[in-house]
Amino acid sequence: MKCLTIIGARPQFIKAAVVSRAIRHNENIEEIIVHTGQHYDNSMSDLFFAEMTIPKPKYNLGICNLSHGAMTGQMLEQIEKIIWHEQPDIVLVYGDTNSTLAGALAAKKLHVKVAHVEAGLRSFNMNMPEEINRILTDRISDILFCPTQTAMNNLQKEGLGNMSCQILNCGDVMYDAATFYASQSRKPTEEIPPKFILCTVHRAENTDNEKILRSILKALEQLSENIPVLIPLHPRTKAKLTAIQYDFDNSKIHFIAPVGYLEMIFLLQHCELVMTDSGGLQKEAYFFHRNCVTLRNETEWIELVTNGFNSIAGVETDNIICTVQKVMKQNPDYSVDLYGDGNAGQKIVNHLSLCCGQDKIR
Ligand code: UDP
Repeated sequence: MKCLTIIGARPQFIKAAVVSRAIRHNENIEEIIVHTGQHYDNSMSDLFFAEMTIPKPKYNLGICNLSHGAMTGQMLEQIEKIIWHEQPDIVLVYGDTNSTLAGALAAKKLHVKVAHVEAGLRSFNMNMPEEINRILTDRISDILFCPTQTAMNNLQKEGLGNMSCQILNCGDVMYDAATFYASQSRKPTEEIPPKFILCTVHRAENTDNEKILRSILKALEQLSENIPVLIPLHPRTKAKLTAIQYDFDNSKIHFIAPVGYLEMIFLLQHCELVMTDSGGLQKEAYFFHRNCVTLRNETEWIELVTNGFNSIAGVETDNIICTVQKVMKQNPDYSVDLYGDGNAGQKIVNHLSLCCGQDKIR
């Protein structure tokens, strides 16, 4: 069975590392990786392939720095050509980026089956490009690998349970990644304060609106008076900060370049608290028993909130500071298992392998 994997952004490399390793141990499946180029430089791409030993992509499309329409359109065109050429049995897509949607759409139009890893997530905020990508990808996928029961329920509510697709709860591949790589964590080369808050900000709705971006920065600067706030700075956020002429030199915030996954695990293992608008990092805070404050008005990972591991702070300066002060005092019980047993990747590959040769797949 030939599986064409479409990836292009940092979180997808992390998720694919898990599944790809399981595929390499399965003699029924040949994997061909397509890197769309959405994230391209060393710190956002190559580093992950090297650290996580992801096989070299056979195709690298180099499609980046374009508007949503242009990017998705160019990916669609290029992936279609690759599907014609490779004739895969299945196309495997991850998460919620333009690469996910383009891969799923190209395959479906050519009647090649689509499997979606991390299906069923919903923020219920249609202003997020990710939400649009998720909903459309789920709707045309043939196999939907959900990370949680909440995700399964979301798909049932949308009626996908009545359609000719398979919906499975296999657990979260990011939990597999965290457990597999935890012992390989690595201190970043930059100086890291002994105590710090780990923070990431990169969602378009936070970075593209100057008022919101400044409101978040103000909160982070005020918090930095008491405890250093360390930010591995996403290129999109860096570009926005440069555009608004943010004074990096006189900032109280401790900025470093984006780090690799092993360095990120080190930071998660040593930080006092996580503040983020990232999807993945909210869960990783929980995996490493760190409280999390989410810099958004909602989250897809609702079970973290209902179990007291994550607090939604929004983007107002005062709300963020109050939430951090409250959360710093909390000590939740981390013995609850929310994201499976750390074998999601193996379960996904077992299922793909089981389908191998069946009419369901081709
Ligand atoms: N991450 C990383 N280095 C960084 C920042 C994030 O390795 O400098 C990892 C993080 O640990 C998580 C993933 O990237 O596994 C999250 O990616 P991102 O926040 O870009 O996307 P999202 O999860 O919001 O889709």
